[in-house]
Amino acid sequence: MAGNGYLPADGVCLECGDVIYGRKDKQFCSELCKNRWHNRKQQERRLYRQQIVAILMRNYEILDGLLKEKKHSASLLELTKAGYEPTFVTGHRKGAFRHEEYFCFDICFYRSDTKIFHLQRKESI
Ligand SMILES: [Zn+2]
Repeated sequence: MAGNGYLPADGVCLECGDVIYGRKDKQFCSELCKNRWHNRKQQERRLYRQQIVAILMRNYEILDGLLKEKKHSASLLELTKAGYEPTFVTGHRKGAFRHEEYFCFDICFYRSDTKIFHLQRKESI
């Protein structure tokens, strides 16, 4: 877009890196670059959400497996070795007996620094 009479702005296009002409606050050299950049951002955010859902689904499979084996507690070390990611939960609230109650969809449990316990399925949340 050089040679159109505009002075160069300070920046370069966020998408293609070309020098931007025109208003100083412009971030893109063209509508095409603007649309490409926003589309990619949207796609990155969608992917990020999908990755979190995948982590939660893996956590769920692991917790569900414990319940199917009639287990209601497990060490966090063993769980993380199996691929469980303790920082990803779908809910959290103050439980009974000063314990923090965590949720992975319909499965809930208490947690200490070293283990999860009182693992159970909630029929209603
Ligand atoms: Zn551009």
